[in-house]
Amino acid sequence: MSVTVVGSIAYDAVQTPHGGRERMLGGAAVHFALAASFFDEVRVVGPVGDDFGEDEYAVLHGRGVVTDDIEHVVGGKTFFWKGVYGQNMNSRETLETDLNVFETFDPKLSEASKQCDVLFLANILPGLQRNVRRQCERAKWVALDSMDLWINIAREALIDAISEVDCVILNDAEVELFTGEREVVAGARRIMERGPSTMVVKLGKYGAALVTPEDSFWVPAFPVDFVTDPTGAGDSFAGGFVGCVAAHGGDPTAEVLRLAMAYGTAVASYNVEEFGTERVARLTGEEIAERVEELQRITSFDARPVALR
Ligand code: AMP
Repeated sequence: MSVTVVGSIAYDAVQTPHGGRERMLGGAAVHFALAASFFDEVRVVGPVGDDFGEDEYAVLHGRGVVTDDIEHVVGGKTFFWKGVYGQNMNSRETLETDLNVFETFDPKLSEASKQCDVLFLANILPGLQRNVRRQCERAKWVALDSMDLWINIAREALIDAISEVDCVILNDAEVELFTGEREVVAGARRIMERGPSTMVVKLGKYGAALVTPEDSFWVPAFPVDFVTDPTGAGDSFAGGFVGCVAAHGGDPTAEVLRLAMAYGTAVASYNVEEFGTERVARLTGEEIAERVEELQRITSFDARPVALR
């Protein structure tokens, strides 16, 4: 199997109640690729500018991520995002988004990237997501992420993009904005009416829900001792989730999807422990497996009947 991801490759500036970074490697495609690299070969498609350096490539190569389809736009500057987190870390405000090389991004995939088995369309213009989806005709399983910006300004294009994928991954606020439904399962079902057979609703520090036409399945966030920076948690979750499906031949049975929820949760829990990609860049497969086991332990119980009155 192989996984292709298209999305932002960024420099992020982040401020949290516990400190910050003025300029660090980020971007949805980067966080996704590092997380998914534990499960399969991953190819990243996205643009960077002259300022994107060897140190940044080294982080990706350190996890075996294939960077051949990272397009270096000569004379351009890499996408830049600046955000600040509120005291409870579950809310964040975007202070700056400089699209830079993203402004004119027109993804052209190499033959190897087009031949992927599993495709992840990270949060970019829905029209571009659709364009990439059509270039990857062979892909067995395709997942898509989006954000409030596109729901607000490119709703019809997003509906079109969603109609051509198997799985949509959004947070609860995005589902509500898109569908008007406040309840997770009802909102997820409204989105599935547009075509996808699987929906994942991310609930921030409360975990995530998996919704299919027949079923729903819920996992809490893994309880870490200290959250340093939630940036990229959603994309790391997606990397673990989609990566796990890829590791199972891109065949999303009910059991595989549940397991994928656990792997996504485990990888995301490491991501938030340090700034940006710092923790996941030196994560090990053993550490991920440990948290998946622990997650099972802290969520399973024996539902024996109790005499009730
Ligand atoms: P997450 O915390 O998982 O929602 O993802 C955060 C990442 O998304 C950061 O590393 C940003 O560089 C990237 N990002 C923020 N805004 C945008 C945007 N408008 N388009 C694409 N990527 C973005």
